Amino acid sequence: MTHSGEVRRIAYDRITRLMEFAKRHAAERPELAREAGRLILRICRKARIRLPAAYKRLICRKCGMLFYVPGSFRVRVRSRRSTHVVITCAACGHVKRIPAIREKRGIRAKG
Ligand SMILES: [Zn+2]
Repeated sequence: MTHSGEVRRIAYDRITRLMEFAKRHAAERPELAREAGRLILRICRKARIRLPAAYKRLICRKCGMLFYVPGSFRVRVRSRRSTHVVITCAACGHVKRIPAIREKRGIRAKG
């Protein structure tokens, strides 16, 4: 394994653990969850990795707020032009748009 591969593996490992930690404590210790979120953003920058897709929607890329915290975000579905989900971070006001892609085929095709 190359050095950068090792760094990346460790980084993903830490991110996974931080997300799990934040999820467990978000309700009673929101400040810890946010701290974990900030740490995750820092790890990503340092290791030059992208946030795993599964976590992308759960974290504010601007301030590190983890959306496991109750009331930390607002969600709206917009359908002008193309349907997308708008997530607004309640902590810093950062807006994230996620295109809502519906799987129209594929599930039944495979039987
Ligand atoms: Zn934010």
